Amino acid sequence: AVSKKDSYDITLLPGDGIGPEITESTKKVLTALCEKCGFDMNLKVALIGGAAIDAVNDPFPQESLEQCQASDSVLLACIGGYKWDSNPRELRPESGLLKMRKEMGLFANLRPAKVLPQLIDASTLKREVVEGVDVMVVRELTGDVYFGTPKGIETINGERVGYNNMIYSESEIDRIARVAGDVASKRGKKLCSVDKANVLDVSQLWREVVTDVITKDFPDVELSHMYVDNAAMQLIRWPKQFDTIVCGNIFGDILSDEASMLVGSLGMLPSASIGESGPGVFEPCHGSAPDIAGEDKANPLAMILSAAMMLKYDLDRPDEALLLENAVEAVLDQGLRTPDIKQEGDGCKLVGCSEMGEAVAKIVTELD
Ligand code: ATP
Ligand code: MG
Repeated sequence: AVSKKDSYDITLLPGDGIGPEITESTKKVLTALCEKCGFDMNLKVALIGGAAIDAVNDPFPQESLEQCQASDSVLLACIGGYKWDSNPRELRPESGLLKMRKEMGLFANLRPAKVLPQLIDASTLKREVVEGVDVMVVRELTGDVYFGTPKGIETINGERVGYNNMIYSESEIDRIARVAGDVASKRGKKLCSVDKANVLDVSQLWREVVTDVITKDFPDVELSHMYVDNAAMQLIRWPKQFDTIVCGNIFGDILSDEASMLVGSLGMLPSASIGESGPGVFEPCHGSAPDIAGEDKANPLAMILSAAMMLKYDLDRPDEALLLENAVEAVLDQGLRTPDIKQEGDGCKLVGCSEMGEAVAKIVTELD
């Protein structure tokens, strides 16, 4: 993250499938925003994913990494597709993404689930349950049972035994707690830490360190704790009780997918991955949607909302982030819908990816 300035260097990673289309729409919106608010964004494209494999036989070339690291922030569309599915692992688009996250030290993943009043009927839950829901899950991304060693499958007493280790060090918990404290203080100032401290030792440490960090360094944030099984239930029962949630890698994997379903459409969900210092990576939650690529049917709003997160969490421009969010809501108020959020008989106008981008850009110019 950087402090507010007049000109930012942004790396754009269009990637594969619908990536180039939604990137184009997002570019139009950002250009309009800069003009309106009087600052510059130097938007520079780089290669990642299948596009990079085709061009230079590497899913995340060194040149792209260096460009990302030299930028103020990175905006990624999406990667992957059938074309590269049978490649060896190191030549798959997904390896490029993993390499980027690792090399850039992105240990915190932010996934908001905000229910917009205009799309409330897209949710699978009852209107009164989802109305007004605005939850942010902060997931630790580089530790936990996915990475703990020793791990493996061994033969013990004549049968095979598989095991992985849930491991968190104090410093790992400390740094994710600081990100969560910062995020909560920029939102509703309420943080719920999710663990399984009634059973797991690692969770006892988690609870202790999170409590220390938040009470000492984020006194304006109200902290609570919840066991993960209860949290999974409460997210469906009464999601409005949550503002910001912080949890380890595996609990966050599950809870962030659960929370996203409160919203309904994949085409509306942004995300952020951030590290200790340096640029973060902002990207929609959806994949490259190869089934509709090149048809001007993709919903660019998740990527536009990812750009809003970039403004808020990386570029110190919260007012401009809010302006983008308001523009997205306004375009829905005008009744424009891409196919993924169009419901039969809703009286709305069906538009493509480029028209949706142009409409948001236009509203950005007009809004106060
Ligand atoms: P990945 O493994 O890369 O996450 P996935 O298999 O989860 O990919 P997606 O590419 O996210 O799948 O697509 C799932 C479905 O949602 C597809 O039918 C796709 O067309 C649709 N979809 C995803 N993103 C969008 C979008 N931005 N606009 C419209 N439809 C979308
Ligand atoms: Mg997926």
